[in-house]
Amino acid sequence: MRAYNFCAGPAALPTAVLEKAQRELLNWQGTGVSIMEMSHRSKDYVAVAEKAEANLRQLLNIPKNYKVLFLQGGATLQFSAIPLNFFGKNAKADYIKTGIWSEKAIKEAKRYGEVNVVDAIAEIDGKMAILPAESWPLSTDASYVHYCENETIGGLQFKTIPQTTAPLVADLSSSILSAPIDVSQFGLIYAGAQKNIGPAGLTIVIVRDDLLDQAKPEIPSLLKYANQAANESMLNTPATYSWYLAGLVFEWLLEQGGVDAIYQQNLAKAKCLYDYIDQSDFYNNPIAPAHRSLMNVPFTLVNESLEALFLQQAEEHHLLNLAGHRSVGGMRASIYNAVPLEAVQALVEFMDKFAQAHR
Ligand SMILES: *Cc1c(COP(=O)(O)O)cnc(C)c1O
Repeated sequence: MRAYNFCAGPAALPTAVLEKAQRELLNWQGTGVSIMEMSHRSKDYVAVAEKAEANLRQLLNIPKNYKVLFLQGGATLQFSAIPLNFFGKNAKADYIKTGIWSEKAIKEAKRYGEVNVVDAIAEIDGKMAILPAESWPLSTDASYVHYCENETIGGLQFKTIPQTTAPLVADLSSSILSAPIDVSQFGLIYAGAQKNIGPAGLTIVIVRDDLLDQAKPEIPSLLKYANQAANESMLNTPATYSWYLAGLVFEWLLEQGGVDAIYQQNLAKAKCLYDYIDQSDFYNNPIAPAHRSLMNVPFTLVNESLEALFLQQAEEHHLLNLAGHRSVGGMRASIYNAVPLEAVQALVEFMDKFAQAHR
């Protein structure tokens, strides 16, 4: 039996996708070899890669003047790639700080230029909230404004796209494809694959093509978006298997009805869990309702001493990976696209039984 997996990343993948990959593992479509054993420059593999891109473009309605890159190094390498690609003419950017991931991006960008940090997180009525974009002290001459759309660890998410003069650069690692988004409002979007796209090893970058001429001269060739765009992300060997599997996930998403349909399911999942936590005096979520993440739901037990027992018993109920990030503790349920509503219902049922037994 497959457990319900609430891991923050690498995260649950749709069972149907894994089954298809399993069927094709040894002999991909009659070729006699695994897709893993194929040249990335072969006609067959290039077709797989191109189809994955076409499907992602369809899912997110990506305009033609945006390049879609399939890279390696995780979202973390993008923390360096972004300033290296955009600081060549003007080494200055605004970075919005809302939690641990945006802080990591800030730390890396500071190595390459001037970073104006806007602290946008505040405690309001005992809950964490994001300060409105209109109140941010942005600089007038930034090359771009960077923010993390969904703070995977803290569980804070933007519900609207900030309006900025400089191009907007967004880390969507844990929220891409979970809800409709207007790509045309961004200069660049990036996301590590292992939350909502596919297995680890792949990073997606979606970048407006007029922004590709500002790289610093010393940038490593592999990190330069213009190079990767000119070479279909195959400047060297890409993460072929992860790319293929991401393609299967995109097909699965289209079969589910696309991003609008999966968004409705995600809303239902999140409502089920947040509503339960809110009516409970046994559990607590630290985020203001207007900024709660659709994908990552952190919660604590009012009686902290029961946490270890909670996690142990959850595991016995096949509810896995509910421990919060090592830096913050508590609990966290990541409810990405591949986590079904039944999983969230099973979690709520377990939480309620546990609360009854220990109050
Ligand atoms: C997981 C995550 C990262 C880091 O991703 P890696 O692929 O491990 O480098 C960065 N930003 C956010 C928002 C994340 O959720």
